Amino acid sequence: MKSALVCGAGGFIGSHLVKRLKREGFWVRGVDLKFPEFSETQADDFLLADLRDPVSCRDVLDRRFDEIYQLAADMGGAGFVFTGENDAEIMHNSATINLNIVEACRKRNNKRIFYSSSACMYPEHNQFDPNTPVTREDSAYPANPDSEYGWEKLFSERLYLAYMRNHGMDVRVARYHNIFGPEGTWTGGREKSPAAFCRKIAEAKPGDTIEMWGDGNQTRSFLYIDECIEGTIRLMRSSFSGPVNIGSEEMVTINRLAEMIMEIAGKKLNIRHIPGPLGVRGRNSHNALIQEKLGWSPQESLKEGLSKTYPWVEQQVRIAGAKKTKKSKDA
Ligand code: NAD
Repeated sequence: MKSALVCGAGGFIGSHLVKRLKREGFWVRGVDLKFPEFSETQADDFLLADLRDPVSCRDVLDRRFDEIYQLAADMGGAGFVFTGENDAEIMHNSATINLNIVEACRKRNNKRIFYSSSACMYPEHNQFDPNTPVTREDSAYPANPDSEYGWEKLFSERLYLAYMRNHGMDVRVARYHNIFGPEGTWTGGREKSPAAFCRKIAEAKPGDTIEMWGDGNQTRSFLYIDECIEGTIRLMRSSFSGPVNIGSEEMVTINRLAEMIMEIAGKKLNIRHIPGPLGVRGRNSHNALIQEKLGWSPQESLKEGLSKTYPWVEQQVRIAGAKKTKKSKDA
């Protein structure tokens, strides 16, 4: 039986990845600071451990694995990454996790490891124009990410690639672009824009006004979780190391994103544009390299993915509302 380790298995992408590996018949060990929030983990073995601790990393890696996926990171949407308030923690925590994990892998002779980098590592100066952002993989240097989160990702990409060159590790590096879907963070400050708008729209009554950071003309692309997992697995089992984009090429303005969700919800709401943390002005995935190397690229439309995500967020809003009502009745 093949075995896999998923670091960050309590998180959004990690918990979906565990499910996929289990469907494929793998024996899976998951590790995280927390269990998945929205469903039981399907991992055969789940360790609650802090990967900033090198001893914990050694314990987690006490055996050989056919595949190791390193997704653990101190992570969030614009409200977490772009305010500047969490920069030191983001850099310290995620860099420490990566330094520990890759070294523990080397010591165990666990060679095949996937690392989830982010489109946030691309230079800011190539993403000023919302209509023509550049995120070709070879445009990464000279480096100029617009967040410390992006700088840490760039550092860790280089770390894994250095271990590949110097220690014969079999590394895979993907640059994810805005992954969304059911069982992702939808409230609390770390949520990303698709989940945040699903929540705001689910909470609103027809005719209400919802808030949006910026003028809404900033552009992004969003990739549905199942396609992210498909790309991750395909990259892991290919002979290509990357770094390679895993994202959608369907770029939309944030205004259009909100509109699409309103269409799905069947609600017409007003938008009030307010100042807030924004990130780059435009970003889109560039999929020529993944298409060339893997003969595959994501194809599902944003609307299809949102149609599967909105009902889930709406249900979470209903459950949270019911809990609040019960609490105030009990008090
Ligand atoms: P997530 O926050 O849901 O998952 C990350 C998990 O790492 C969390 O469950 C968290 O508890 C865990 N973690 C953090 N610190 C830890 C520690 N010290 N020890 C053990 N576990 C720890 O995020 P996600 O959306 O699932 O993202 C997974 C990976 O993909 C991250 O590396 C992220 O940077 C990268 N990524 C995600 C996106 C996206 O849109 N979701 C985009 C680009 C890159």
